[in-house]
Amino acid sequence: MSSRSRVQEPIGRPRQQFSRKHLIMEIYKSLSTADIVSVDFEGPEIAVYVKNPKFLLESEGIVKDLARRLRKRIVVRTHPQSRKSREYTVKFIRENVPADVGIVDIQFDDVLGEVRVVADKPGKLMGRGKTFRSLVLAETGWRLEVYRKPLLQSGLLDSVLRHLQRHAEERRKALRDIGERIFRDMLIGTRYARIVGLGSFGEVGRSAILVDTGESRVLLDAGLSPSGYGPDSYPFYWSPEFRVDELDAVVISHAHLDHVGTLPILFKYGFRGPVYATPPTRDIMIIVLRDLMNLMRREQGEPPFDARDIEKVLTRVITVGYNTVTDVAPDIKMTFINAGHILGSSMVHLHIGQGLYNILYTADFKFYRIKDDKSTRLLPPADYSFQRIEALIMEATYGAKETQPRDQAEAELVELVNKVYKRGGKILIPVMAVGRGQEILVVLNEAMRQGKIPEIPIYVDGMVYEVTAVYTNYPELLVKPIRDRILKEGDNPFEGPTTVYVTDHERRDEAMYSDKPSIILSTSGMMNGGPILEYFKYMAGDPRNALVFVSYQAPGTLGRRIQSGEKEVELEVDGELRRVKVELEVVSIEGFTGHSTRGELLSFIRRLQPKPRNVVLNHGEPAAVASLAHSIKSGWSKLGFETPPIIEAPENLEGVRLFPRNLKMKMALQHS
Ligand SMILES: [Zn+2]
Ligand SMILES: [Zn+2]
Repeated sequence: MSSRSRVQEPIGRPRQQFSRKHLIMEIYKSLSTADIVSVDFEGPEIAVYVKNPKFLLESEGIVKDLARRLRKRIVVRTHPQSRKSREYTVKFIRENVPADVGIVDIQFDDVLGEVRVVADKPGKLMGRGKTFRSLVLAETGWRLEVYRKPLLQSGLLDSVLRHLQRHAEERRKALRDIGERIFRDMLIGTRYARIVGLGSFGEVGRSAILVDTGESRVLLDAGLSPSGYGPDSYPFYWSPEFRVDELDAVVISHAHLDHVGTLPILFKYGFRGPVYATPPTRDIMIIVLRDLMNLMRREQGEPPFDARDIEKVLTRVITVGYNTVTDVAPDIKMTFINAGHILGSSMVHLHIGQGLYNILYTADFKFYRIKDDKSTRLLPPADYSFQRIEALIMEATYGAKETQPRDQAEAELVELVNKVYKRGGKILIPVMAVGRGQEILVVLNEAMRQGKIPEIPIYVDGMVYEVTAVYTNYPELLVKPIRDRILKEGDNPFEGPTTVYVTDHERRDEAMYSDKPSIILSTSGMMNGGPILEYFKYMAGDPRNALVFVSYQAPGTLGRRIQSGEKEVELEVDGELRRVKVELEVVSIEGFTGHSTRGELLSFIRRLQPKPRNVVLNHGEPAAVASLAHSIKSGWSKLGFETPPIIEAPENLEGVRLFPRNLKMKMALQHS
């Protein structure tokens, strides 16, 4: 062994990488019977267009084998010219589907060659299974996808789908450009793996991490800090190593604004690459970005991006489901893994340099033990088993203190509702449109169903409705009891007998001015804008009322100030600043958090397989990060590490060289 390899981590031996030309040759050779018209690089997929639809039916096994061998995502589609007309296809489907399936809508995706049937009872169609799909494909050249009619109708969601259809041509062109870039022959190859913290290091908010390999650059998240709307709330995009035009991809972990709020700004400043997100993250982020734009317009005049920038995002979003390995750059493969935080939320696994190095970025995640869980949760906990991880980038929001268990939090909320009801007051709960809003709604409806709380109106204001509609659109991602209620019983757990979605002024007036006890859920979750402020101004002076915090309140937000005990706050009333006395009861119930508690963070590390060599902590206030770092450092062997890991907590603008690195020097510094 040379002296160099003892101090320097040996560079792993990368697997063979196929060149572009080689890839295309292999495809033609392996699919020689397919009557191939063209082979196109479309985003992260290699699309093979064939003349004969029957080949799609017979070739599934061959294509799978080929994809595995080349380690690429390969899809075979019929060539547009061998697809029958829309009219013919609609007629064919309607004539051959049993009447009780209840077709609601039939849509076409020209880019993917898909015909999408939305039905009341899609199970009946799926029951006929492959045969009906094959029949449609063989007869019309279109690939059939069946969807359930959503329980709640969302105008915004419909407009997303319509946009994608209307801009099919533009989208196809964007996918080709992106594909050309992903499948380029490498210029210099992977030189190293390093990350630069652009935001969310030593703080909660404006998450953004640049991953750099020398050959390529990927941005993980593009968040906005909840403390404001100006450049101080953006990640450090003006850092010299961050260049929008050199970026290969943006990967969005989930649709909270502190992870996605500045994404349109990147497009405004010239980014034209792909944005990777899970399908629910795409839907929700378009909703919250539009909401953010309107909020900024009301609060500070011209927002830093407009509707066209959001449309650019939409045109370039590439959706990827959980556990699907996808090329995002010539030397980076990305996989989304369930994070259990909100619908569609993901941890991001990056496989760098054909086997050189692996990073797991948890982003916001919820880890809990299913075994002893008696709560009304919506989402399954984060996954923790992987093939390889050398570096773990982990959130530390609750790294400092333990929070109560979820079932205790539910009991506390039930007790509070009863107490406030008896004294004739109203309960105001600030919720984020995404996540806590849906969780609390289900908890309250369930408590009412079981007779634990009285049947009083539950008003839901702000963007919660639209996002809840998205939740009902992906029942397969929810925990089994909730999923079964939606799929088997046709029941809507988000809508109880007294739920009122506030969609117009009359309902808001009713929610605000009615003197009967009620519960009001409203955005924004940290009281830094949105309808919650109107309710608060009206309710703050009555000690019978209660304000209940159920999620993290960031420093600098109004929510945090009231939570920490401020008894008087300045707010705009009828166009002028007035002092508002806080006389209602203020309660914090932390056990509803979508983040892992301190104990859950540590047990995630204990369960995590395999053990990483580097642990980088972010997404936490300095005290939380320091406390968690200390616990890992002193408890590494109890947490299952064979050797002490290198623990790092960089600040924003600092970079960490992850690979290759001088371990001897690092270890000497860390554990001296
Ligand atoms: Zn989040
Ligand atoms: Zn976050």
